[in-house]
Amino acid sequence: MSKVYVSNCNAYDNEKMKSTILNAIDQMGGFEKYIRPGQKVLLKINLIGPKKAEKAATTHPEFVRAVGQLIKTIGADVYVGDSSGGAIAGMAPTKKSFTACGIEKIAEEEGFTLINFDEIGPINKVVEGNFSKELYITKAIEEMDVVINLPKMKTHSMGVYTGAVKNLFGAIPGLRKAKYHKEAPNPEVFGQVLADIHKAIDNMPLHIMDGIIAMQGEGPTAGKPYSAGKILISEDPLSLDRIAIEMMGILPERVDILKASIQRKVGVWEKEEIEVIGDFEKLKNYALPKSYRTHAVKDFTKVRGVIDFFKVVPVVNQKKCVKCNSCVDGCPVGAIHRDTKIIDYTICIDCLCCHELCMIEAVDLKSKNQLVNVVRSVANLFYK
Ligand code: SF4
Ligand code: SF4
Repeated sequence: MSKVYVSNCNAYDNEKMKSTILNAIDQMGGFEKYIRPGQKVLLKINLIGPKKAEKAATTHPEFVRAVGQLIKTIGADVYVGDSSGGAIAGMAPTKKSFTACGIEKIAEEEGFTLINFDEIGPINKVVEGNFSKELYITKAIEEMDVVINLPKMKTHSMGVYTGAVKNLFGAIPGLRKAKYHKEAPNPEVFGQVLADIHKAIDNMPLHIMDGIIAMQGEGPTAGKPYSAGKILISEDPLSLDRIAIEMMGILPERVDILKASIQRKVGVWEKEEIEVIGDFEKLKNYALPKSYRTHAVKDFTKVRGVIDFFKVVPVVNQKKCVKCNSCVDGCPVGAIHRDTKIIDYTICIDCLCCHELCMIEAVDLKSKNQLVNVVRSVANLFYK
């Protein structure tokens, strides 16, 4: 029997959040069941883009602070990481997202170490994958003793819902996320990628969802905040998602992105096999995406052209480059020629490490389409 703990918590009040989370975790056997003193613990947050915390697009920084503080009390070291989406137009937003969302500030104040998945780079995991036989997944997860998943409760205009299972898509660094979006023609196939990722991770025993201020409507970034006042905790990401969607008023059969995870038993999905403990309730007037109401056909192939149009590749700016070789040594697949700094795009895996590692910003992200480069330059002005 899988268990999901649902607790009322109506504000990002530090003491209230900590006591609420501890109360549930104690019923599950205490944090000591999952973490030992001295271990490295990664908090995998939802840092979808450079959004302010009050927009409810990201895991709230105060929520991250509260969980991190609890983990520190048992003598473990806390790391916080993600790779933001939206790098297809060449803006590589993860670093900016840490700042904009307020995560950088709380990390400094609390002594947490930030990990930019685009900078640390991926490892090639050979998985029992359905979509991919090899998965370039962030090194951070591999190098940590324990990963705790901190998803946000949100709607998704194309996938209907995004929660604990979907949050691990950020484990794929850099531009490769866009490649998966492009190759998966619909949410059901895209769900295979998510199941592959979960099957590749075996050190993630806890999922703690920030549902205090959730997102409704046209999520995952353009929706509106909704005061749900809930924290959901489980050892099982799929069970947690099942209970979250019921609270939001989403029919289980409408969440195509979770179908592969159900089939491949990433967790328990059947309601009668899940024990719900605590403050479960159907959330009133939770606005669902328009596509959910209209039963619009969700066809990712329509976005392929957009992804192709905005596709960028890393290019070393030879005039700026001081030949320090950080990018050459940091490239996980040896795609950058040591002498010429020319990148072999036939083996490049779009991880963005070179772009993030170059301290003098000599690795540009460029499109073959000059119009995109102009759009990107203008957009970057607003990012700074
Ligand atoms: S890291 Fe930057 S400066 Fe160093 S070799 Fe690469 S492009 Fe040149
Ligand atoms: S050249 Fe190497 S480091 Fe740069 S994006 Fe490609 S694979 Fe990553």
